[in-house]
Amino acid sequence: MEQLEKKKVCGFYPLTEEEKKEVFEFSKPYIEFLNKAKTEREVNKEIIKELVENGFVEVNQLEELHSGDKVYYNNRGKGVYAAIIGEKNLTEGMQIVGSHIDSPRLDLKPNPLYEDANLALLKTHYYGGIKKYQWTTIPLAIHGVIVKANGEKMEVSIGEEEGDPIFMITDLLPHLAQNQADKPLKSAIEGEALNLVVGSIPDGDSENAIKKNILKILNDKYGITEIDFYSSEIEIVPAFKARDLGFDQSMVASYGQDDRVCAYASLKAILDCKSSTYTQVAIFADKEEIGSVGNTGMCSEVFDYFVSLLLEKTNEMDGNALKKVYCHSKMLSADVGAGVDPNYQEVSEKNNSSYIGYGVELNKYTGSRGKSGASDANAEFVAYIRNIFESNGIKYQVSELGKVDIGGGGTIAYILANKGMDVIDCGVPVIAMHSPYEVTSKYDIYSAYTAYKAFFESDQTVRY
Ligand code: MN
Ligand code: MN
Repeated sequence: MEQLEKKKVCGFYPLTEEEKKEVFEFSKPYIEFLNKAKTEREVNKEIIKELVENGFVEVNQLEELHSGDKVYYNNRGKGVYAAIIGEKNLTEGMQIVGSHIDSPRLDLKPNPLYEDANLALLKTHYYGGIKKYQWTTIPLAIHGVIVKANGEKMEVSIGEEEGDPIFMITDLLPHLAQNQADKPLKSAIEGEALNLVVGSIPDGDSENAIKKNILKILNDKYGITEIDFYSSEIEIVPAFKARDLGFDQSMVASYGQDDRVCAYASLKAILDCKSSTYTQVAIFADKEEIGSVGNTGMCSEVFDYFVSLLLEKTNEMDGNALKKVYCHSKMLSADVGAGVDPNYQEVSEKNNSSYIGYGVELNKYTGSRGKSGASDANAEFVAYIRNIFESNGIKYQVSELGKVDIGGGGTIAYILANKGMDVIDCGVPVIAMHSPYEVTSKYDIYSAYTAYKAFFESDQTVRY
């Protein structure tokens, strides 16, 4: 008999020892990946390294493309598109999994270095949605690039290696924090107070001697002068490492899991998937956390350019080809969702929430208030996805971000849906999202991988 009532079962509970081992093994290289790559540029590098190792070729190196060819496009070192050409024409649609590789952080301002109260500090400007108090009194690392006017590029990474110094932002001692403690959380730590402590030794007794000493050190180490900060992109990220979480080691705690968990799972999926008749595409976008804008964000036309290159090289380019591709394409927007936090359950509506450890999460829509800004997946498409997951034994949960009218959010889903694709959000539920230390379940990480892989391998079409 058909099971009348749907049931939610923890992913770990029915697993055999062998399956459990597979789930745990999958997260090991993921943890290494998180520790190696803490900025979008570093993630971009790791992704391209793995693509190349697995036979993907830069798309412009091939004159023509044929079924089975594997190509990628590097968007300015901050985003990647990868494709495996299918048997069918591109205009019959592609199967896309799209994630983002930028994460909330602190960026350095263009004039960052100053001296105050006998300390040298760097001024920051936060990037993405952060709770500012979470970034004080934790060890921080400095990652990024400095490009001199002559084009010479220096890569910076300080605070990751044993023996490296770390950096930090101070906070007020509780003894003197009476006024601060009365302020609302969102204004207790001001944006202009997120200044990084970087030194305290003066070079002589002139004015700004501590700042000058830091400039000296930077000049010795990188050959840069103060003006070179103008043409730099330096990101301040937590210096601590990704770790197993819990006695049972069932979870991963790390910075940057939004959205590198889905980026990693979809990378592994496109590397491991069997061919489909459709072209398979993985998108790794930048700038999602600030609205997907700019030439490395999903709203840019660089993805159109990549698809146009594919069309040219498969000899399919004609007037409407690009739009045909989009209107026939199917996509999983691979971004994280909000897992229920046991300490803050009041923001979740239980029947429509995701729990970590219960499998990959589908969000039919995101947005806020009356679904404002939502890309609402069509029922026919949700049925198509259900069929893939259910026939492959993939555990999934369908949820909303939180209770109605309590907040909201979005992903890159709407951008591709606006182009005409069928899109649904499908990712890993996270606890403490956007914090310096985010929590995921190893079961869900593996489940996202199997979900993306099964989606890539599907030969079905959506029935309208
Ligand atoms: Mn995200
Ligand atoms: Mn986010």
